Amino acid sequence: MPIPSNGGVAAPDAATIEEMFSERSVACPCCGGTLTPSMLAQLVADAGRMEQARHAAARLPAGGSGMLIDPHAHMIARTTDDYEAMARAGIVAVIEPAFWLGQLRTSVGSFIDYFSTITGFERYRAGQFGIRHYCAIGLNPKEANNAALADAVLDVLPRYLGKEGVVALGEIGYDEQTPAEDRALRAQIELAKEFDLPIMIHTPHRDKKQGTTRTMNVLEECGFDPARCVIDHNNEETVEEVLARGYWCAFTIYPSTKMGNERLSEIVARHGPERIIVDSACDWGVSDPLAVAKSARLMARRGLPADVIHQVVYANALAVYGLNGEMSAAHWQEPVPVDQRVLYNNGNSVLRGQAPRVDGQAADDDVIV
Ligand SMILES: [Zn+2]
Ligand SMILES: [Zn+2]
Repeated sequence: MPIPSNGGVAAPDAATIEEMFSERSVACPCCGGTLTPSMLAQLVADAGRMEQARHAAARLPAGGSGMLIDPHAHMIARTTDDYEAMARAGIVAVIEPAFWLGQLRTSVGSFIDYFSTITGFERYRAGQFGIRHYCAIGLNPKEANNAALADAVLDVLPRYLGKEGVVALGEIGYDEQTPAEDRALRAQIELAKEFDLPIMIHTPHRDKKQGTTRTMNVLEECGFDPARCVIDHNNEETVEEVLARGYWCAFTIYPSTKMGNERLSEIVARHGPERIIVDSACDWGVSDPLAVAKSARLMARRGLPADVIHQVVYANALAVYGLNGEMSAAHWQEPVPVDQRVLYNNGNSVLRGQAPRVDGQAADDDVIV
C-alpha cells in the first residue's frame, strides 16, 4: 500500500497512471522529454519504497531490524501501559519465566493456577497489545526450600512443560545454595532433558560468582548441553567463565543498581555479541520494562554496529529459545492483527468500556469520537 507523502493524498497506482496518460502527456522534469506511463509508474513506486524505508528507519534503534525481544519479563506484575510502551519501543515478543511472587506459596494449587495463568490468560493479554508471549516453567530455588511443597510442584511440572508457548524450563538454579535447592535443580535438569527443553538459569544475587560456577558444574555433571542453556543475571565477574564454558550469557538490566546498560555496552564492546543476551526481568520490584529498548539505543549511541546490537537484543534470544520450535519469527512477522473485541475463553476482556483496538480495519471518517 503506498504511503501518502504529499499531505495525505495517496500516490496513484499503475491503473490510475494509465488513465491519466489517456487524457494528456506528461513531461519529464529533468530533460523535458515525454514520460511514458511505465516510467512514471516506476518513479512513483521508487518514491513509495523510499518513503517506507524512511518510516521503518525512524522506528529503529540505529540501524538494527527495529524488532526487539525481551526474553525475561514477569509480565503478570506489569500494567497494560507497560505492554503498550513495550510494543511502541519495538518489543515483538516476551518470555515470562516462572518465579516466586514476593509471597511464599503454601500449596501446590497456587502453583497450578500460576502456571495456568502464564501459559493462558497472560498470553492472551499480551496478544491484545500486539506482543507475542511465551514462557518458561519451573520451580524457583527460593520455594524449593519447602521440601514437601517442592515435591508436589515437581510432580505437576510435566503437565505444563509440553504446553503451547513453553520455550524453556526455568527459571531454576540457586538462591541460598541449600541442599533442598540443589535437589530441585538436579531434578529439573533431568526433566528438561526428558522434555527436550532449553533451560533458563537464575543465578544467586548473593555469592554470585561461586553460585554461578557451581550451577554450571551441576549442569555438566548432569550432562546438559551448554548450547541449550541460558545463564541469566550475569555481571563482569561471571561473563568470562560463562562464555568460555559454552553457555548463553544473559544480562538483566536493572535501573540504578546491579547491572546497568552502560556496563552492558562495555561488556558487549569487549566480548562481542556471540551468545550475549539482554533482558529487563521486569517484575513487581523496581525494574524497567523498556530496559531492552533503552539498551539497544544506548549501544547505538556508543557506536556499536547495528548487527551487533541486533544479535544481543533479538537474534540470540530467538536462537536459543526457539530451539524447541515453539517460538518462531513468523509469529510476529506474519502477525494475527490485534482485535480487542476478542474475549478470553472465560469471557474476560482487557477493556473496561473503552473502544476496542482493531488493527487492519479502516477508520470510518464520518464517526466523530
Ligand atoms: Zn532470576
Ligand atoms: Zn526473573
